[in-house]
Order: sequence, then C-alpha cells, then structure tokens
Amino acid sequence: MSYTAESDEIRQKLLFFDQFCDAWSSEYRLRGGTIHCGKGCSGCCSLVVNCTGPEAALVADRLTASQTSRLQAQIPLIQDCADRASSLKEWLSSYRQQAGPCPFLEQDGSCGIYQMRPISCRSLIATKGSQWCTTDFAALTATEKQAFMEDLDRSVVAFPTHYAATPQEMGQELELAILRAMERRYGYSLLGNLPWLVWLIHKHGAEQLLTTDAETVGHLLAAQGACSSYLTSISS
Ligand code: SF4
Repeated sequence: MSYTAESDEIRQKLLFFDQFCDAWSSEYRLRGGTIHCGKGCSGCCSLVVNCTGPEAALVADRLTASQTSRLQAQIPLIQDCADRASSLKEWLSSYRQQAGPCPFLEQDGSCGIYQMRPISCRSLIATKGSQWCTTDFAALTATEKQAFMEDLDRSVVAFPTHYAATPQEMGQELELAILRAMERRYGYSLLGNLPWLVWLIHKHGAEQLLTTDAETVGHLLAAQGACSSYLTSISS
C-alpha cells in the first residue's frame, strides 16, 4: 500500500469525525446547550497537542514557507521544555508559558492547517466561554475553582473540564484505530507532540518515519533528541 493511500484513509476518518462532532453539537444546541468554539477563537491553541504519526504526515505534506519557519523556530523551545520537565504537570505548564502558541496558528486567530488539523484539536468542544480555555487553573483560588465546577453541565462535560466528553471519547477511539492500523502494517505505531512530529516528518519523510520498523525509527528519534516521552512515543 502506498503512503498516499494511507493518507486518504486518515482524511476519511477526519471527515467522519467532523460529521460526528457536527451532529453532536447540533443535538446539544437543540437541548438548549451552547457551544463556544468558532473561527478566530484560539484559546486551546496554546495547549500541548498530541497526535498520531499519520495525522502529522498530512500536515507535513502541505506546510507553507511561513509555517515551516515558525515550526523551525519553535522546535528548540519545545525541546527545552521537554528536557527540563520533571513531571507531566511541569511539562504542560512550561509548554504553555515558554513554547508559545501552536506554530500553525495564524495572526487572525484562525488555524492555518484547518482541513488537516488533528483529531485532538477537533475533539475539544467548549461548553463554556473561551476565557476558560486560556485559564491557568493552578492560579485560581479554591472558591473560584469551586464556582467553575459548579457551573459545568455535568451531563456532557469531561469533568472537571468544560470540554464535551463524547467527542473526546470518539476522537480517542479513532486515534486508537489509526495506531492499530499502523501496527498491523508495520509492527509499530508512532504518536507524539504535533509540532515535533510534523517537523520530523518534514525533515525525514513520511516513509522513513511511518513505514519502516520500530528499531530504525527509535534510532532516528534518538539522533534527533526526541527521546522524551513528552515528544514522541513508539509502541510495538
Ligand atoms: S493545529 Fe490548528 S486548531 Fe490545532 S492547536 Fe494548532 S492552530 Fe489550533
């Protein structure tokens, strides 16, 4: 199977997931709920975004010159955060503060890779205002946290977040299906940080990272300094 054919499979999954999320959102609105996501709202674009290797390959295939240069500038910052982080909490917090927003975020707040953005971006559907997507919850008082949680629609959110649970669960199933398909074909699967994976695939090519074998890819990642599990992870 050519890698192009695999890309087509991923595109179909993304299309299916968009339809699923649209249907879920419509049904939620009919029940009186409000979805706060929209074009130009980029609150969640400063969070760590992980994705599967095949999703990253779709993005790497279509990078513009300015996206490539923003990506190149961000890689050392991400690497530094990963090298210094001694816990997941530290990684997530330092990433948000030091690595800067997603390199694919355009100046007008739109996503520059909207059609190719990964499942994890598509699955974040906010049921409260965008200010909550940028809030540092560690900085809130206990009373403020309590007020936030009491205001959540617990029938739909992935508690204690304000993001809808069902799209995230479906998104995780689709990601798993992508990884399982890769394992069946090549004996391993690759996932990791979106900008890091896109950068690696941009530099080395999708075939070398996604269609060889776990050992070869492990050596390549080590040579690139991408050993931290915050950056990439191989399963076999
Ligand atoms: S890929 Fe697009 S939607 Fe996802 S974090 Fe980056 S700019 Fe935001």
